[in-house]
Amino acid sequence: MHTGDSLSGQNEVRRHASMDSSSIPSTGRSHKDIKYALTEKGCWECTSHHNRSGYPKIWINGQRESVHRYVYRLYKGDIPKGMIIRHTCDNMKCINPAHLLLGTHGDNVRDRVERHRGAIGEHNGRHKLTETQVKEILCDITTSKMALARKYGVTPKNIRNIKQHKRWRYVR
Ligand SMILES: [Zn+2]
Repeated sequence: MHTGDSLSGQNEVRRHASMDSSSIPSTGRSHKDIKYALTEKGCWECTSHHNRSGYPKIWINGQRESVHRYVYRLYKGDIPKGMIIRHTCDNMKCINPAHLLLGTHGDNVRDRVERHRGAIGEHNGRHKLTETQVKEILCDITTSKMALARKYGVTPKNIRNIKQHKRWRYVR
């Protein structure tokens, strides 16, 4: 990691970030400054806000929101209802507006499925999930991992790996 000035593209971003290349000042009393570290890939990894199980979160006007969504709104504008913000870099901690894209949940699932293509299955080869099943698992945010594991005949760990988009050995 370094904190050089190689902030990617976008004049808009540079203008906003010109005061301090590693923090986004608070826009009010609602939150502390967002600090980040610039990675070699150009990601702004949020260092001031944390969330053990996913996207860093921030309190804005009494509501908890993902930092990357907040940053997107700050730099790029409103997020239409039902739309999500995707990371082109697949780095959950990244809040670089240049790496954030507006998309649908379907886009996100497709991204993840594509990343998993050819890497879907269980080590012992007894069970193999189809792409459709992986999509279903990714879309299903209400069913527990245990229940999903039972439903698809894989282990809860497999389900967790899919949810956390870890790659695992290809089972043909
Ligand atoms: Zn990034």
